[in-house]
Amino acid sequence: MGLIEVQNVSFAYSDRPVVDDVSLTVEAGEFLGLVGPNGSGKTTLLELMIGLRKPDRGSVRLFGEPAHASAERDRVGFVPQNVGDTTGEMPVTVREVVRMGRYPHRLIGRFRDADRTAVTDALRRVDITDLADRRVGRLSGGQRQRVFIARALAADADLLALDEPTVGVDAESREAFYTLLQELNDEGITIILIEHDIGVVTTHASEIACLNRELFFHGDPEAFVETNALADAYGGTQSIVHHDH
Ligand code: ADP
Repeated sequence: MGLIEVQNVSFAYSDRPVVDDVSLTVEAGEFLGLVGPNGSGKTTLLELMIGLRKPDRGSVRLFGEPAHASAERDRVGFVPQNVGDTTGEMPVTVREVVRMGRYPHRLIGRFRDADRTAVTDALRRVDITDLADRRVGRLSGGQRQRVFIARALAADADLLALDEPTVGVDAESREAFYTLLQELNDEGITIILIEHDIGVVTTHASEIACLNRELFFHGDPEAFVETNALADAYGGTQSIVHHDH
């Protein structure tokens, strides 16, 4: 059984279809890169996969249960797009955000040594121990992404879902960030990454899904570069997809 099983899923905003009859399975331990043009339904599909949206047709199973009703959603660490925009003004420290990952684990609302250790370990794992007492709003974009990954690690997440995490992050920090993702994947965490830089995806992902409303390709990077899926997804349908962001 796959960690996520998407079967014949369609979804529309009002009467505007953005995901059309998509089926794919994500196995535990995979690093799935989700690519496609702007507005091709990547974010929507990711939200469907982790149960933040409910399909109009078809089904999504997450850890074996209907995704939108899964009791195990805290096994998913979600790093949404523009995480900085929503946290920029938050008057909380890095440690406090990471500690939120422990909320589902607390015994009768109290933090124990195990929780404190999990927070310390997560901060160390993503190399932000020195930022622990800084306010999240004062950090750079790349540092903030690490905070949200640390929160997921503190929560013992099995799956990390990231939506264009390095937009606005400088090249050096991006490379370090993708190296971190690769290491976490090597340690057994399943990763789904939406990424516009195809080079990053073919370098780091073990599987690629190429979307433009429909699924144009799903397979390994070697096969992906040998197909026309990318050109088909980007080229043939520009009249259908509106580039409105
Ligand atoms: P991508 O992540 O590939 O850029 P999205 O899933 O964000 O694609 O969006 C797919 C299409 O759905 C786009 O045309 C977008 O404008 C539209 N869309 C996204 N979110 C909403 C929403 N909440 N309400 C209405 N339309 C939306």
